[in-house]
Amino acid sequence: SVVMEKILRRRSLQLRNQQQTWQDSPEGQNMLEFRRSLPAFKEREALLAAISQNQVVVVSGETGCGKTTQLPQYILESEIDAARGATCSIICTQPRRISAMAVSERVAAERGEKLGESVGYKVRLEGMKGRETRLLFCTTGILLRRLLVDRNLKGVTHVIVDEIHERGMNEDFLLIVLKDLLPRRPELRLILMSATLNAELFSSYFGGAPMIHIPGFTYPVHTHFLENVLEITGHRLTPYNQIDDYGQEKMWKMQKQAMRRRKSQIASVVEDALEAADFREYCSRTRESLSCWNPDSIGFNLIESILCHICRKERPGAVLVFMTGWDDINSLKDQLQANPLLGDPTKVLLLPCHGSMASSEQRLIFDKPENGIRKIVLATNMAETSITINDVVFVVDCGKAKETSYDALNNTPCLLPTWISKASTRQRRGRAGRVQPGECYHLYPRCVYDAFADYQLPELLRTPLQSLCLQIKSLRLGSISEFLSRALQSPEPLSVQNAIEYLKVIGALDDKEELTVLGRHLSMLPVEPKLGKMLIYGAIFNCLDPILTVVAGLTVRDPFLTPFDKKDLAESAKSQFSCRDYSDHLALVRAFDGWKDSEREHSGYEYCWKNFLSAQTLKAIDSLRKQFLFLLKDTGLVTDSFSTCNKWSQDENLTRAVICAGLYPGVCSVVNKEKSISLKTMEDGQVMLSSNSVNGKESKILYPWLVFNEKVKVNSVFLRDTTAVSDSVLLLFGGNICRGGLDGHLKMLGGYLEFFMNPDLQSTYLNLKRELEELIYF
Ligand code: ADP
Ligand code: MG
Repeated sequence: SVVMEKILRRRSLQLRNQQQTWQDSPEGQNMLEFRRSLPAFKEREALLAAISQNQVVVVSGETGCGKTTQLPQYILESEIDAARGATCSIICTQPRRISAMAVSERVAAERGEKLGESVGYKVRLEGMKGRETRLLFCTTGILLRRLLVDRNLKGVTHVIVDEIHERGMNEDFLLIVLKDLLPRRPELRLILMSATLNAELFSSYFGGAPMIHIPGFTYPVHTHFLENVLEITGHRLTPYNQIDDYGQEKMWKMQKQAMRRRKSQIASVVEDALEAADFREYCSRTRESLSCWNPDSIGFNLIESILCHICRKERPGAVLVFMTGWDDINSLKDQLQANPLLGDPTKVLLLPCHGSMASSEQRLIFDKPENGIRKIVLATNMAETSITINDVVFVVDCGKAKETSYDALNNTPCLLPTWISKASTRQRRGRAGRVQPGECYHLYPRCVYDAFADYQLPELLRTPLQSLCLQIKSLRLGSISEFLSRALQSPEPLSVQNAIEYLKVIGALDDKEELTVLGRHLSMLPVEPKLGKMLIYGAIFNCLDPILTVVAGLTVRDPFLTPFDKKDLAESAKSQFSCRDYSDHLALVRAFDGWKDSEREHSGYEYCWKNFLSAQTLKAIDSLRKQFLFLLKDTGLVTDSFSTCNKWSQDENLTRAVICAGLYPGVCSVVNKEKSISLKTMEDGQVMLSSNSVNGKESKILYPWLVFNEKVKVNSVFLRDTTAVSDSVLLLFGGNICRGGLDGHLKMLGGYLEFFMNPDLQSTYLNLKRELEELIYF
């Protein structure tokens, strides 16, 4: 070991010489000059001193001040200067793949090296890291995975957790784990970095760790809300008679009133909404209503107009457009490219910017375009804090954000676009004032902004607890309740207990609270466990197509509209799809299939109008179906061709059974009385059906049970969508395979297939058995 020490010492001295040589070279000098101009540089010594004297330090500062690229480098440089270059090991986590890659590349360039020498990165399935790598940028997930096999982080000297203000689930997770680790590794240093000023929270979580703020400077930004934007662009919005998509009663009424006033612009709907007495209450009651300011429904046309305005009338400077996701960015880009001005490459440089981009594309975003060419970057909320584009003067903000709706790599839950917080709005606006005074165009009215939450809820408290518990188990973090009780902000113990109990009932956890095989599969699917279970069963039983529709429908929302003044018409339109088979879910499947057929021939618009369906929702369902299918293929649950996994898709009883498998334990019993039907659940006693359920119209239900997805309590308890099932289906598909034992269950399955009296199905019984066994023993 004396020899080893000598080698390391020699290597450290070598590294010091290398660093000095680069810093003395002309390019190195230039780079140093740039780096010294960043606000972080003034704090360099204070930062390094605090880190050497304290185990935990919290650093905050405006986006772009140099936290991510500089601070890890300061540590590396000071270690090299102290001749510890060959023995230090610094890990800096990033919430997103793209930032881990972009930042490491930048830092390597600032050090005059190739990526993979002293600076490297590692993200899932990709990486650039060598034996000499001392500073590693990686995603938070990668570090969590490393902790699984190396719980003391042997050899690591510094851990830097970046972007903690985002309060992502992985970051909150990691902090719990690191807090445990610190006493075991007294020489390990932990640095937390955050953009906004909620540093106190993190500092107190770590027993009053010192905080260092890097002061920054931004120019003032002039703010325009939708009212102003419409004035600037003189934009004509979609006339009323072309809008088919405002399902909510209130919107419908407002449309009516406005039509009566013979106004032809949607702008008056906006005005009416502005007048709505309590807007926040209005928004929460009608989940949908805010989405009328979604750029999808305002039309990308508004964005196109405001961009044209900037290009024609405004001073030079890059434009940053905040969109909700990858799909939107691509379709908007297509539309803009068709515009004579914006699509002209001699005048405009259009660049998409999102998480799944190649790194060669990324670099263009940071480059300054040639004179006279305006750079327009279409980005997701990733451009809010994790990357900095220096020359931005104009920001266009659609007001919404979503996690990439399907992200198997990070295994995050599917999220729909939701309104951002006031803190995010401030952050987005700030991006316009980095080099000179800027302009920010918000594509929503002022009153919508007023209804925004101050901060976004931490992901740990937003994520459904059932999925979260599965995550904890799949990461092998021990007892769920004990683990969560140590979080920065923990969920209610009772809700945690309920979630665990639920997971046991559906068979995802065993009695000892360990993951079952079903649980392991569910933890790989980024959807709620009940929907995941439905997908898995749909795949195993080869009736995937209708199940994809049901699951997508339950994820998005109900496409059946019930306008206030046409309630009866709408409800009877829906019951036409039920074909008297007592299932809202099967009605949805038929409505969707019908729409696909009519869409192939015409636009599908008339079909929607006639049947009181929302075309926008059906489209969303369609795209989600594709994502779910991709997901199932990716996790290996669907390997065969689409025709195999749809072999029994026409068998509605089988579909019904799979729906039951997913929705259990949401069950109520049915007793047909002389004049009415009596419905009861175990917890609530008597319950009612909501009036738009197809079963609400029936005078008798010829099945003993209804399974349901959701119940709502308004005076009495109402069940929303329901599907009727038989005793044997409930017995066999409801409940828990693992508790009954596989053999018993398979025997019963055999009986069940006989029960269907479908000889074809029986002949595939053996196949089915094999597949099920494979799943269980996987
Ligand atoms: P922070 O983490 O505080 O938001 P960064 O360290 O990411 O700030 O960025 C500091 C500065 O470095 C930015 O203002 C920008 O000027 C510059 N920078 C960062 N990444 C790049 C890059 N890939 N190319 C050129 N300049 C960059
Ligand atoms: Mg940063």
